[in-house]
Amino acid sequence: MAQEKIEKISAVKGMNDILPPESARWEWLEGAVRELMARYAYRNIRTPMLEHTALFVRGIGEVTDIVEKEMYSFQDRSDKHGDNDHLSLRPEGTASVVRAVIEHNALYDGGKRLYYMGPMFRRERPQRGRYRQFHQIGAEVLGFPGPDVDAELILLASALWRAIGLIDVRLELNSLGQRAERARYRAELIAYFEHHADSLDEDARRRLHSNPLRILDTKNPAMRELVESAPKLLDFLGPESLAHFNSLRAILDANGIAYTINPYLVRGLDYYNLTVFEFVTDRLGAQGTVCAGGRYDDLIAQIGGKSAPAVGWALGMERVLALLEGQGSAPPTYAPHAYAVVPDISALPQVLHTLQQLRAAGVRVQMHAAGPDGLLGSFKSQFKKADASGANYALIFGADELARGEVAVKVLRDGSGAQMVYALADLPALARHLQSQDHND
Ligand code: ATP
Ligand code: MG
Repeated sequence: MAQEKIEKISAVKGMNDILPPESARWEWLEGAVRELMARYAYRNIRTPMLEHTALFVRGIGEVTDIVEKEMYSFQDRSDKHGDNDHLSLRPEGTASVVRAVIEHNALYDGGKRLYYMGPMFRRERPQRGRYRQFHQIGAEVLGFPGPDVDAELILLASALWRAIGLIDVRLELNSLGQRAERARYRAELIAYFEHHADSLDEDARRRLHSNPLRILDTKNPAMRELVESAPKLLDFLGPESLAHFNSLRAILDANGIAYTINPYLVRGLDYYNLTVFEFVTDRLGAQGTVCAGGRYDDLIAQIGGKSAPAVGWALGMERVLALLEGQGSAPPTYAPHAYAVVPDISALPQVLHTLQQLRAAGVRVQMHAAGPDGLLGSFKSQFKKADASGANYALIFGADELARGEVAVKVLRDGSGAQMVYALADLPALARHLQSQDHND
C-alpha cells in the first residue's frame, strides 16, 4: 500500500531540545547549584509555569518589553470565575515566588531564603544566548532589609562561578536609592532628555514619560553619548541610601569581590530600589548579562501582600553553559563504569540479576541490548559498542565464566586489554573495583 508522506513536526522556533551528551552539562550545573544553595541555607521553591497575566502586569510593569510584547498569553476557557482566565506562561520567576509567598503566608515566622530553577518564556527574536524558552536559576531573599543579604546573594553567585569554573564574568553594581530620591532624579532626567529630544530614538521617545530610567539601559550605540552626559542617579541619593550602598561595598571589599559601579545600570523595572547588580561578560555579544538582580522592597506590597523587603537575582543557564563551553571546560560525561557483554541470550536472566546488584552498589552499568532481530550480535560487535559507550570496563558474561560462577572484567581504556576474573559470590569486591577509576564523581 502506498504510504502518504507525513510532514515532520519540528520544535517551536526559539525553543530547544536538550539531548545527551549536552544534557549532562545541564544536570551537572543543576547539581552544583543544589549543593551550593544548601551551603547557604537557601531552600527550593517550585511554582507553576502558568500564572494569571495580571500577576506579571502588576509584578513586572506595563511599560516593559516583557509585558508589552514578549509574553505568551492566552484566554483560557472560561470557568465559573469568568474574568480570571487570562493566563501567561511565566517570563521570569520573581513575580511567581512573591505570589506564592503571599498566598501561603510564608513570611509569618520571619524571612525566607529561596531558590528555583526552570524554564521561562519570552517571545523575543531568537539568537545566540536569547531563546523563547530559556532556563533560569534564581535566588530570592524575602523579609530582610539590610545590605548583609544583598552581599550574601552576590557572594553566593560568585561562589557559584568558582564552583563551576566560570571565568571572565565581572560584577557591575549600582544603587537606585528610594522612591522619593528616584522621583527627583526622574524629573531631572526627563527635563534633560526633553532638552535633547531630537537625539532620542523611537524607544526612548516612547519611554520618556512612562519609564525614563529605562532609556539609560539602551542598547542603541547612537544613544550612548547622550546617556553618558545625563544626570547620575547616585548624586541624588540621601544619607540612608548611601549608607546601605556603602555597607554592601564594604562587605564585598572584605571578601575580595571586584566590581565596577555602573551608573547606567537601572534594571528598568519600577519596583527595584537600592542595590542593583549584574554579572556581565564580553564573550556573548549583545547577550552579555549572565546574572542580574537587585532589591525590590516595594514588590510584595505591589502584588497585594503585607509590605516586606526583598532582594534576589536570576541567571540564564544557556548563557552560563555557553560561556563554559567557550572556555573549553570539559563536559561531564556520566559514562557508565562498565558495559555488560553477553555472548548468549540464555544467560540474560542471570546477567540482569547480577547487574541489578552492581547498580545497587553504585556501579553505572550499560547492558548490551538485543537488536531488532532479537539477537545479541557477535562478540566483536558487542565490544565495539562497549568501546563507544565510554565505559572503563567490559564485563564478559561468557558461558564458561558463568559455569564457574565468575565474570571476566576487561580494561577498555588504557590499551592494555588486561583481563581479570571476579567471583559472582563476591560482587562487593567487583563493585569497588569498577568504581575505582571514576574521576567524575
Ligand atoms: P537581556 O538584557 O539580556 O535581555 P534581561 O534584563 O531581559 O536580559 P532578566 O529578566 O534580568 O534579563 O533575566 C535574568 C537573566 O536571564 C539574564 O541576565 C539572562 O542571563 C537570562 N535571560 C533573559 N532573557 C533570556 C532569553 N530570552 N534567552 C536566554 N536567556 C535569557
Ligand atoms: Mg530582555
